[in-house]
Amino acid sequence: MNNNILEFQEVWKTYGTDKNKLTALKGINLKLKKNSLNLILGPSGSGKTTLLNLASMLDTPTNGKIIINGQDTSKLSKLEKSKIRRNQIGIVYQRANLFPYLNILENTMLPMISNDINNASKILNMVGLVETSKFPDEISIEKQQKGALARAMINDPSLIVADEPTGELDKKSTEAIMDLIIEIKKKYTVLIVSNNVNLKKYCDNLFLLEDGYLQKIND
Ligand code: ADP
Ligand code: MG
Repeated sequence: MNNNILEFQEVWKTYGTDKNKLTALKGINLKLKKNSLNLILGPSGSGKTTLLNLASMLDTPTNGKIIINGQDTSKLSKLEKSKIRRNQIGIVYQRANLFPYLNILENTMLPMISNDINNASKILNMVGLVETSKFPDEISIEKQQKGALARAMINDPSLIVADEPTGELDKKSTEAIMDLIIEIKKKYTVLIVSNNVNLKKYCDNLFLLEDGYLQKIND
């Protein structure tokens, strides 16, 4: 058993058919080790969101293998996939995507399997959110993003993926969120895709995605 949380083997993704074909990912190879903070940098349209959607099993590759925690995902049934998605993967988006009519505690607990309110409070405390009875529009965007991170951690996943998690934030809030992600990766494995080159200094592993081709920059 290797200790890769996520592995892509020669992964291709093509959208559409015939004349409207567009190949967004071209033979991606990727290995993410436990407790690492991984950053994929790429310009708009380079395939970042496509790659994250495959990593979080919201979509399936046209070719190649995706292995999560040693399991070949192409061999799983829909039900098994949805279980893995719920138990093992936490997702964070550019906009925190919190539900406006649920308070922070309710938002955090929404995908929770155990419904353990003490555990939810513990995680919210860890991300530094104490105003848990407030609604998303009553707190700053930075705090909303902390709520989104708490929600992503709520089922103790093995992988947290984040699509442009600092895209809406100013420099100071970006630093606050990245400092928090550095804490988070001590327990989880994190994959961030972004076009913000300033995030480079926080990551253990850096990759560049250009026109569907992925290249590893450091070791
Ligand atoms: P990024 O997140 O880096 O901006 P995307 O993964 O969203 O890149 O898109 C990569 C390429 O795939 C783009 O050319 C985009 O237009 C195309 N694309 C993305 N999603 C779809 C889709 N559902 N159907 C067709 N083309 C798509
Ligand atoms: Mg995108």
